[in-house]
This record gives sequence, C-alpha cells and structure tokens, in this order.
Amino acid sequence: MDLSLRLLLFGPPSAGNGTQAQLLKEQLSVLHISSGDLFRHHLEQGTPLGKQAAIYMNQGLLVPDELTIDIFLEKILGIPSHQGFLLDGFPRTIDQASALEGALDNGSGQLDKVVFINVPEDELIRRLGSRFTCRDCQTPHTVLEDQPAIRCNKCGGELYQRDDDRPESIRQRLLVYRSETLPLLDFYGRRKMLLDIPGTGSTQCVNRRVLAALSLDNLSSN
Ligand code: AMP
Repeated sequence: MDLSLRLLLFGPPSAGNGTQAQLLKEQLSVLHISSGDLFRHHLEQGTPLGKQAAIYMNQGLLVPDELTIDIFLEKILGIPSHQGFLLDGFPRTIDQASALEGALDNGSGQLDKVVFINVPEDELIRRLGSRFTCRDCQTPHTVLEDQPAIRCNKCGGELYQRDDDRPESIRQRLLVYRSETLPLLDFYGRRKMLLDIPGTGSTQCVNRRVLAALSLDNLSSN
C-alpha cells in the first residue's frame, strides 16, 4: 500500500529499531534509509568516508555531523515527492534534526510522524551484547550466551557480532544516546509529531502498536 508517508523511526540502541523498520518498510511500501547500513556499506567498500566513520563507529560514538548531515540530506532530498520514506538512524542529534527540518522546509514538506521505540534501560541492559547480525541480509537476531551458533532464519546466512554490538561498545552507545539522541524526544514532541511506542514484548506486538498509532491497524498481518 503506497501512502507516501514520511516517517522517522528512532529509539535507544538494541530497542529493535532495525527490525521494526524492516517490517514497516514492507507494510507501507516506503523507501527505507538506514544511516547505520549506509555507513557499514562504506566501511565494507573501504571508501574514504567508511574509513573515517569506522574510527567513531568502532568506539560506539556518533560519526561527526560534518561527515553525516550532507550525505543524508542529499539522499533524502533526492527522493521524489510522491515517494514515502522511513528514516532509520538519521537524524540522531539536534543539529541533524534542525538541518533536516530546514532542508525539508525548502523541499517537499516535513515529516508526517516520528516513531519513538521506547524501551526501559534495564531491558536494554538485559539485551546487551546478545545481538548478532546476518552478514548477507543484515537482519538482526538475538543470540543468548548459552545458545549454540545459529544461522539467519531469513536467508541462512552467517551471523556475526558487529564491533559496535559488543558489550563495552554498547555501554558507550547508551551514554551517547542519552546525551545526543534523547533530546529529539523534546524536539519532535514540541512539534506534535511524536508517537511514543512501548518497545517491550514481541516484534509483532510492537509492530501492531506502531501501526495502531499511525491509525493503520488494517495493515497488521496478525
Ligand atoms: P546503527 O546501525 O543505526 O546503530 O548505526 C551504527 C553506527 O553508525 C552508530 O553507532 C554511529 O557510529 C553511526 N551512525 C549511524 N547513524 C548516525 C547518525 N545519524 N549520526 C552519526 N553517526 C551515525
């Protein structure tokens, strides 16, 4: 179903943002722009941007705005106005959000809604270090410590733990999230764009909540 919705999805690391974004992308037929995936792609290709970004990513830090804002604005402004999109991971700082707002003001209109996946910190800590990603299709999986190695349940690909998903790096990402990204709640709250979605429970359950908040319950597949 093409609703041409323009959405931003964000939440703390390990909140399941990537998984929810994958579901929504298919349900809403929108273009999915994942900043983390784009940086990882540059990293794998060994581009100059990838090499610079890796220094920050591997430490659980944000890539500086100077390296981030222009590439994502260019990508977003290049999307035809009739095409909906789902931003996943950008903007992640107030400066990025202001830059996006300014760019969309001159372009084809602001975001429709901002979906915040709200997971309490103790739950995030429980999930610490248990996320593994498929090398082939990038689907995230939860693999608990005593669980034998498994393969991707979507494509059978090998699972690996991203450097920035190791426990020491996740702790750092949480600190950065609190100081840099959490202020977006207030930024979008004041603009009445925010949908605060409880992110605990099963993937399907969170997905149903997101669709209901968007008044799109009919798209729920279960
Ligand atoms: P993610 O897969 O969204 O968790 O992103 C992985 C890493 O990419 C983050 O920990 C950051 O180092 C970097 N990154 C992704 N999006 C941004 C952004 N909007 N601003 C700065 N750094 C970012």
